[in-house]
Amino acid sequence: MISCTARKGFSPISEKKINLLGYDLVQMKAFFAEIGEKPFRAVQLIKWIHQFGVDDFSQMSNVSKALRSKLALIAEIKAPEIIMEQKASDGTIKWLMRLDGGNSIETVFIPEDNRGTLCVSSQVGCALDCGFCSTAKQGFNRNLSSAEIIAQLWIANKALNQFAVNEEGISLQKVQDSRHRVITNVVLMGMGEPLLNFDNVVAAIHLMLEDHAYGLSKRRVTISTAGVVPALKRLREECDVSLAISLHAPNDRIRDQIVPLNKKYPIKELLDACQFYFKGDTKKKQFTVEYVMLAGINDSAENARELAVLLKNLPCKINLIPFNPFPDSEFNCSKMQVINSFKDILYKAGYVAVVRKTRGDDIDAACGQLAGKVKDKSRRLN
Ligand code: SAH
Repeated sequence: MISCTARKGFSPISEKKINLLGYDLVQMKAFFAEIGEKPFRAVQLIKWIHQFGVDDFSQMSNVSKALRSKLALIAEIKAPEIIMEQKASDGTIKWLMRLDGGNSIETVFIPEDNRGTLCVSSQVGCALDCGFCSTAKQGFNRNLSSAEIIAQLWIANKALNQFAVNEEGISLQKVQDSRHRVITNVVLMGMGEPLLNFDNVVAAIHLMLEDHAYGLSKRRVTISTAGVVPALKRLREECDVSLAISLHAPNDRIRDQIVPLNKKYPIKELLDACQFYFKGDTKKKQFTVEYVMLAGINDSAENARELAVLLKNLPCKINLIPFNPFPDSEFNCSKMQVINSFKDILYKAGYVAVVRKTRGDDIDAACGQLAGKVKDKSRRLN
């Protein structure tokens, strides 16, 4: 269970309004208990916000007028503002959103034939400093709140006209179809390291999975992590969604160079934590190993064979990611022929290995190209 953040005993007029956008069901119920209202109000509010896309209490027609006025005094439903929308030639859409305090973040929608994936950011910038990632070059400023994380899904649904309320009014058809929205999957693969913003990421994921909100299945929400080992252990207890591990190297010598977090949590500890994540759970099938293909760094045939040995007996599939270049990056992408030979070695060793299709690169929306705008860039991880 997550801790409840509804504040106790606030006096309505004098305090800053509470943003209800990021409250999951437990937090919302606590909020209504605090203001002396019944728990079913929490379900109503969550439906209005996340199924109908409503941010104005006056539109919530099954809530009494008195309660609507009370809510308007003490609370708000506030999402960041879209400052730019770009559409790539392959249909990928990138939104730049302005946050309070002058920062901005990026969110990407990737449509495919049988699904639509939203790539969500969890922090303003990133503190991990992986050498091949442009977000890392932006430095780190702060964690996103749960409202700012779920807002990305909320805003994308609005922009894609997926909510039940639009300018023409309420469409009951759309409420019934909320399970069939175009965003079928969410990946926390945007800016930031999700497991370093644990509580807010978990609260936002609770809303993604909540039937009264987005109703996504656990298997369709993926956390991608560079390997914050203690947080992985907590994640298993609190919300065991799908997992992607940014491994990128077959040994500590190479990984230390390209993923500095490895010096703190080396490969063995990380893979043990992944194994623990699956222990005793027959429903979870496998996790994804992400491996960015960097010419001359981690892409030799020997590296592939070493990787095959390293991952032996682990329930995983391997995603080979062609490196996406960005200005001043010191790496080059491996040649396609090299990537395919690397894949073949893994395949012959019995792995499911796929080369991730690069999407949205003409608008800098591909993996590792998200930069947003980070004001104070100096706050790196020690
Ligand atoms: N911090 C998280 C999630 C953000 S990055 C993590 O490390 O997993 C999402 C994925 O894109 C990660 O696997 C990351 O290593 C990869 N990536 C970052 N920069 C990239 C680039 N320039 N080209 C290709 N993949 C990149």
